[in-house]
Amino acid sequence: MSINELKREVLKYYVRAYEEKLISGTSGNASAFSRKKNVMVITPSGVDPADLTESGMVVVSFDGKVLEGAGAPSSEWMMHALIYRAVKEAKAVLHTHSAFAAAFAVAGQAVPELLPETALYLKGGVPVCGYAPAGTFELAKIVSETLKTSTACLMRNHGVAVYGQNPKNAYMRAVCAEETAKICFYAKLLAGGEACMTPQAP
Ligand code: 13P
Ligand code: ZN
Repeated sequence: MSINELKREVLKYYVRAYEEKLISGTSGNASAFSRKKNVMVITPSGVDPADLTESGMVVVSFDGKVLEGAGAPSSEWMMHALIYRAVKEAKAVLHTHSAFAAAFAVAGQAVPELLPETALYLKGGVPVCGYAPAGTFELAKIVSETLKTSTACLMRNHGVAVYGQNPKNAYMRAVCAEETAKICFYAKLLAGGEACMTPQAP
């Protein structure tokens, strides 16, 4: 994909995430990696997705140099960069503060592989990684290390980070993380913590 196509796709699924209420206000960010050019296309920092246009997207090198775009890149650009470095299959990254998944992240509870779609999109469920403040290199290191062995992780007291083969795949995984967290939450209310277990085949 060309840089312009990547800008279009990242924007499209970032706005979808906003419309699906996975993102509220200016929380969250999204990117895609151009292996050919060795750069990331990333959302700008602090811009409401409803106001974001293709020309507002930022192209940034792996050391944070802005190559295209007027705004500053997302404050989590280091996290996106380290994920692409750590995980070869990662071609897109989406970070949200979606409510149910964030509640699990605050409680320090992993989201288990509960449903058929969880098994499909988030094999092994969504583990919780350690805490580091937003936008720091420490957080980037913790999250990228965790994503070496899972497709998504809950960022302690913060939100969710997922990677995908493309922006659509990252978006589907973020939707699945939120839906699984929501169903797990309600199942726990109905039947207690024991209700939220990965099913075992007979
Ligand atoms: P940015 O607007 O800088 O991407 O920050 C949002 C966020 O979620 C930080 O963790
Ligand atoms: Zn965040």
